Amino acid sequence: MRRTVPSCRRLAIFLLCCLFAAGVSAAERGASYLAALESITASELQGHVEYLADDRLEGRKPGTAGSRAAAAYLARQFAEAGLTGAGADGAYYQHFRPDYRNVLAVCVGSDPQLRSEVVIVGAHYDHVGYGTRRNSRGPIGRVHNGADDNASGTAALLEVAGALQMLPESPKRSVLLIAFDGEEIDLLGAAAQALHRGTSVDARGSDDTRHVQMVADRQKRPFT
Ligand SMILES: [Zn+2]
Repeated sequence: MRRTVPSCRRLAIFLLCCLFAAGVSAAERGASYLAALESITASELQGHVEYLADDRLEGRKPGTAGSRAAAAYLARQFAEAGLTGAGADGAYYQHFRPDYRNVLAVCVGSDPQLRSEVVIVGAHYDHVGYGTRRNSRGPIGRVHNGADDNASGTAALLEVAGALQMLPESPKRSVLLIAFDGEEIDLLGAAAQALHRGTSVDARGSDDTRHVQMVADRQKRPFT
């Protein structure tokens, strides 16, 4: 798992740079900006991956106790980063049938003209639980930890969330951070988001979405 971290960190920094780059001159990128970049650390990424991919979460299959524990962890991380929930009434969850949940938060844009435009940064946090013949290439009936698919991308998402709040000023456009549930079941979480049910940020017009998916280097580190 350790080899996943450098590529996670590179990607998280890249995403942050993308979000902040527009309209910000080099001169404006002062100490606070560098501090935000430096807040993305290998050890924090490692910590997120280790939590999410732990056996106790039993592979984060949607609708299970392990999935709910993962969602609670993500909501806690968004709250600690000072981000507002983007579910209905500011909640961090977007519930959808049968008993699944996306976890989402928003960083409101600083430009009054542009903040209604929304950039989505998303990663799916669910995995396949104990695996079935349909969804597993591994041993059926044993915990599929999903360290790469997609605890790694989710960890990068969390680090971007934390770094955003350290910037001297938010990006001009609003940034909607979404940890999707139900990706492994026909992209159900993304479908729920697209329908804008149970959310407070309307991103249906967004044409700028970054999906953080399995960011480990699989040539060097096999699927775990
Ligand atoms: Zn997946």
